[in-house]
Amino acid sequence: DIGIPGTSSLSEIARPHLPAPGPADHKYTRGHVVVAEGAMPGAALLSAMAAQRGGAGYVTLAGKGQGGPAAIVRRDAPLADLLADRRVGCALVGPGLGRDAAGRALLDAALASDKPLVLDADALMLLEGTGALPGLPVLTPHEGEFATLFGTLEGSRIERARAAAAQAQAVVVLKGPDTVVAAPDGRAAIGWPAPGWLASAGTGDVLAGLIAANRARGLAAFEAACAGVWLHRRAAELAGPGLIADDLIAHLPKALSECSWS
Ligand code: AMP
Ligand code: MG
Repeated sequence: DIGIPGTSSLSEIARPHLPAPGPADHKYTRGHVVVAEGAMPGAALLSAMAAQRGGAGYVTLAGKGQGGPAAIVRRDAPLADLLADRRVGCALVGPGLGRDAAGRALLDAALASDKPLVLDADALMLLEGTGALPGLPVLTPHEGEFATLFGTLEGSRIERARAAAAQAQAVVVLKGPDTVVAAPDGRAAIGWPAPGWLASAGTGDVLAGLIAANRARGLAAFEAACAGVWLHRRAAELAGPGLIADDLIAHLPKALSECSWS
């Protein structure tokens, strides 16, 4: 109970405990994330850079856009082929995806794979009307995307996130100043309060990339989402007023240094 009215049995998202890379690790065991690039490659690039800085050992951008750190590998190959690589630990689809046939094809390829998924932005809009999803994906809607996906549910943000998680059989990250993470088993946690400076284009893409990195390094869906929300909020506090999405990525090493590791 964190003392906010109506939130008993809800935990506050804690400073994460994360697995540190050890001598036996290599770049693929640290987490290989594939980010699908769509109509607006800049958004996917932000996600990819956040995944990279957030601790993934290897990040592949599926597409042919340009720019970004040289260590982000771009591969213009069918997403299904890239996801067939057994080393891939998580696929992120949605940031900048577009809602046309090409975007839908990328989403379908991700849903048909057996990889842990993080679905954000346009992927959520394309999922509209979809029932239970396979494989406990992480969905990261803001209120608008949430309404499209789940309609108007009754209750508080916490109750609505819980109901949505049960309906979709997914971990739902309902974003806002008080981001709620909910799992189908009823667990819920809240990250509160986040600086209003986060209300800036691209910050959601960074969050999705962070959660994908956590999934790829082996965290379970709920824990990966909570750790991502904590790191995102902490990076925002460290970046301070006037932040833009890129600044969050620059402040991730400091935020990560404050986590506990083993
Ligand atoms: P998106 O809507 O996908 O661009 O994501 C925006 C990000 O900013 C999410 O992580 C939200 O939780 C966060 N955010 C949006 N508005 C606020 C606000 N007023 N105060 C704090 N965080 C916010
Ligand atoms: Mg967004």
